[in-house]
Amino acid sequence: MDCADCGKCWGDACGIFGIYAPGEEAARQTFFGLYGVQHRGQESAGIAVGHDGQIDVHKDAGLVFQVFDEETISHLRGDVALGHVRYSTTGSSDVHNAQPLIGHHSTGPFALGHNGNLVNTIALRDELSVAGSQFHTTTDSEVILHLIEQSAADTLEEAIAQAMPQMQGAYSLGIMTPDRLIAVRDPYGVRPLCIGRFNNDNWVLSSETSGLHVVGAQFVREVQPGEIVTLGPSGMDARQVIQSQRKACCIFEFIYFARPDSHIYGRNIYMSRVRMGNMLARQAPVDADLVIPVPQTGIPHAIGYAQVAGIPFGHGFIKNTYIHRTFITPDQRLRELGVRMKLTPLKEAIAGKRIVVVDDSIVRGTTTGPEIELLRQAGAREIHLRINCPPLRYPCFYGIDTSTREELIAARMSVEEIRQHLGADSLEYLTLSNLTKAIGLPKIHFCTACFDGNYPIPIPEDVKVTKFALEDEPVADS
Ligand code: AMP
Repeated sequence: MDCADCGKCWGDACGIFGIYAPGEEAARQTFFGLYGVQHRGQESAGIAVGHDGQIDVHKDAGLVFQVFDEETISHLRGDVALGHVRYSTTGSSDVHNAQPLIGHHSTGPFALGHNGNLVNTIALRDELSVAGSQFHTTTDSEVILHLIEQSAADTLEEAIAQAMPQMQGAYSLGIMTPDRLIAVRDPYGVRPLCIGRFNNDNWVLSSETSGLHVVGAQFVREVQPGEIVTLGPSGMDARQVIQSQRKACCIFEFIYFARPDSHIYGRNIYMSRVRMGNMLARQAPVDADLVIPVPQTGIPHAIGYAQVAGIPFGHGFIKNTYIHRTFITPDQRLRELGVRMKLTPLKEAIAGKRIVVVDDSIVRGTTTGPEIELLRQAGAREIHLRINCPPLRYPCFYGIDTSTREELIAARMSVEEIRQHLGADSLEYLTLSNLTKAIGLPKIHFCTACFDGNYPIPIPEDVKVTKFALEDEPVADS
């Protein structure tokens, strides 16, 4: 299922889109570009624009189309713009936490948009407060803003370079001055960030390649882990600030977050998901009449499963695309109602059949159960659940708000217990080694902490206790 539709709030990562395009109405182009990363955050949206040594910003709660109209866009004039869509990870969903944030360095004003999550926010916040910083939001992004502001460096790029070694955790940043854009990525490259180009001298930075397509830009390259890249009047200027020890791109980007048309590590997300489905069909075959996806994210996974299984692919659910977030209170009856609003079973396609239901993941297990119940009510004879990733057992500290470990169903129950709890006839998860085989890269390229508890960036003890509600420790780092 899609994040925008679930209403149960396993918080998502954020999206960044920026553009340097003299004479091209940068804010309007950014408005369009944000549609290309809207799936990464639906809580708030904002655009900052630079002109004549100043920065103007407009941001509010809501989807891109709700926050901006012709009037707001036409007031945002300038050659360089930075946009952000947010889903809260650190900090509440308060509109004051909307981004881009505006900062003031001795070299001038700057805007900042962050995707990711720092793990040493509390320690940094304490140090910065002692040094005189005043905080207006509850976000870790504001900590980054103050680290840059407090630097005595002669250029903004140098101030960022001085801040980077102090920041522990995941950060893909878009930073804008009144005349240029700066892209920054943490040394592990946990969250994606890429650069594009159009009409020779116009530059784009985007969380995903899906943002480039919207404005007709060509992909240039990914921002490298530990790198700062400046895009502006002198073209593209890159500087490796921290040598990357190992890459640790979030593997969940491949499974669920990233848009299917995007590319990460040169691999197309849609084709990767189809291959995951292929792998799962080999790993966990079943005799059945029909393979159906849980829309939308489960579609390529299900296509892949059906291809190898030799079972017809079809739709068993119709999804209501008009529902974004339902703000449903977390009680079972209302949650079921929420699933009913979003998904209607196609009785005629399902009744009397043995169905393979393919989805990308099970998180809390709270929407999957009601979905299976809907299929039973529609007359499905057997229901075999196939999940295209391993059981999610550990919380994420790098930009996905999985809350506590207690809430992850696979941290509390065995696969057999989950099957019984959900009411499926069989349940199989893709193994981690088959997952990385499907993507086509060794495990060492990824952060797989949510599956195996190997956190590539150490988590401070005080942060760990807030999310580790269960007893056993994760397996040692490898
Ligand atoms: P549940 O049954 O409550 O565990 O929900 C599983 C569904 O949540 C699957 O259909 C996934 O596509 C979807 N999902 C996975 N990750 C997220 C996320 N970060 N936010 C919202 N939904 C998600």
